[in-house]
Amino acid sequence: MLGETVSISVDCDSLKHYLNFAPQGTDVEKDKFTFPVMCRNLLRILEKLKIKATFFCIAEQLNDPVNLSVYREIVQAGHEIGNHTFSHPDIAFLDEEKHLLNIRLAHQAIMEVLKVKPAGYRAPAYFITEGSFKELKELGYSYDSSLCYSRATRIFTYALKIINRNYQPKRSSGIHSRFKGLPPYNIEFDGINGLTEWPIPNVAGLAYYGTLHCCMPSQVFNTQTAFLNLRKKYIHYELHPIELISKECVEAFPWLRKIPFVRREDLSDWMEYRLQKLISGRKPLTLKELNDAYLYL
Ligand SMILES: [Zn+2]
Repeated sequence: MLGETVSISVDCDSLKHYLNFAPQGTDVEKDKFTFPVMCRNLLRILEKLKIKATFFCIAEQLNDPVNLSVYREIVQAGHEIGNHTFSHPDIAFLDEEKHLLNIRLAHQAIMEVLKVKPAGYRAPAYFITEGSFKELKELGYSYDSSLCYSRATRIFTYALKIINRNYQPKRSSGIHSRFKGLPPYNIEFDGINGLTEWPIPNVAGLAYYGTLHCCMPSQVFNTQTAFLNLRKKYIHYELHPIELISKECVEAFPWLRKIPFVRREDLSDWMEYRLQKLISGRKPLTLKELNDAYLYL
């Protein structure tokens, strides 16, 4: 009996990977915050609440000794490592061959360096294609978690890009609108079940994830959560380390002031409050644990 579950996932984006926010050429050498500060804060909260989460790793980060030591702590604490590509490119502007190579390179690097075999994938900026589903299947993945169908969130991110004056029209993979029913979804290849899709939930037209909840009044999180608690057996919640941003980090990267939640004072408390609320009455499982249990139901 699986019961009611909640799965927390973290996209391990460094500051330069915030495709909707970061100005081009963001100086990554100065980013001493994303992993040692924000990620470790998140690890502390997860440990306190006894939650095992899924961390989607951008494999090029493993080349940096400080980031690597944080990733080793993540693995040691029993969290799951998923694949979030090698360099987190904006896939909408990439040809398919380079896109698939980026997924493969990440897979190899994670296995080689962290000695774990990823079972799940999250696409940067949720840009997934039919070809990437096939690639994941060939690499032995059992699930994907890249879909995020929310018209309101898409309009919000486009608006941000226009405000930041870096808007460029993107091609669309058109896949998201095919999965508007009740998740999880089975993605079939030639009539055989291939991968399970665990999307970012969509509640009342708005995606249900941490970055949005840091920007909005707490009622948005509380209302969306109450709705999901009534309707969903399996809740999935996505986070980014930037949601625990520190004052020092904002001083080093003044463009962060454009992000609405940077003004919030209680980022750690707010994170702990939400996670605590999510696990009350629900069993926390990593996405892999959830997927394995779901497949054996
Ligand atoms: Zn990302």
